[in-house]
Amino acid sequence: MRLEHDAVELTRKLVGENSINPPGDEHACASLLAALLERHGWNVKLQSFGPRRVNLIARIGGSDTKADPLVLTGHLDTVPLGETRWTADPFGGETSEGRMYGRGTSDMKAGVAAMICAALPFAQKSHARRGITLIFTGGEETGCEGAIALRQNMQLGRASAILVGEPTANGMSLGHKGCLCFNASAKGVTAHSSMPDLGSNAIYEIAEAVLAARDVDWSRYSQSELGNPSLNVGTIRGGLNFNSVPDAAECTIDIRTTDTMDHAVVSADLRKRLGERICLKSLIDMPAILTSKDEPFVAVVAEVLNDIVDSGAGAAVEPMSFFTDASVLQSEMVAPTILLGPGQPELAHQTDEWCSIERIRQAVSIYENIIDRWCQQC
Ligand SMILES: [Zn+2]
Repeated sequence: MRLEHDAVELTRKLVGENSINPPGDEHACASLLAALLERHGWNVKLQSFGPRRVNLIARIGGSDTKADPLVLTGHLDTVPLGETRWTADPFGGETSEGRMYGRGTSDMKAGVAAMICAALPFAQKSHARRGITLIFTGGEETGCEGAIALRQNMQLGRASAILVGEPTANGMSLGHKGCLCFNASAKGVTAHSSMPDLGSNAIYEIAEAVLAARDVDWSRYSQSELGNPSLNVGTIRGGLNFNSVPDAAECTIDIRTTDTMDHAVVSADLRKRLGERICLKSLIDMPAILTSKDEPFVAVVAEVLNDIVDSGAGAAVEPMSFFTDASVLQSEMVAPTILLGPGQPELAHQTDEWCSIERIRQAVSIYENIIDRWCQQC
């Protein structure tokens, strides 16, 4: 069977191409998909954002050239394998008891494969009024590098709706939290540790900053359907040896934000709280996503899920806890955004990651039906 007719085989093929990030290498996955799409009449562009770092954008028009397209999107990179030994071959795509194992099966090569198989035959659908844009990015796992490169190059264009194939076990999720991540650093003055009065200890400065960050009061931010914001200090580093006063120390502060928070205000508050002696450098700044239940696109996706999965499947599931390329795409394209993909959210980044084979096939039907219904109406 040819790859384009079988999303399970296409998932296996994509899993077989190592795209672990870092270091990141999406070239083989992107080339494979580009060849398939071109063969089916799509206009494909590969955008490079570093050696072997690639984004793929493919477009196909509908009959109404003024209608904004439907965007289907996902990422081609995966996280590293981790320290724990895998029992399955992480690049083998082995199947057992209805599951396909491998790095990136759930997050999110199965989602990409299902989108491709659902979208490929679009050229034959003469009744469709809207076109489709496929955006498959690299570098998502290290802070949406690929999507940011696309935005900078103004390659994104317009969208009537955005469907993100991240793992939701084929449920409809209307959003996720945002992420504001900083490197916080302090400078001191070094001296012999037997004469600390002659120096200024940067570790003390950063320790105070860590506790001040821990004690931020989030209650002043209004309630959101995305839950409460959170803050975590994930790394801390300082000092070179036990017998010197350290003159440099730093930590990372990761804040997960909701749609009711303005990142500029949160950043200014944190700066004030930590004081002038702490230098804050922004590492990640991704807004939260929350699509209104009243959007017509939500109704279309709900209807499809009720028809294809079961009668209750159209209800929105919990917002996702992870952030995605949707933060970047949504801020540029400003369109209702839904996360829906065949992967299991709890298996993302895990040892022995797997994806349900039945869900991969189901995702193809779900995407096909969403394309048919949304692209027909304008
Ligand atoms: Zn992902």
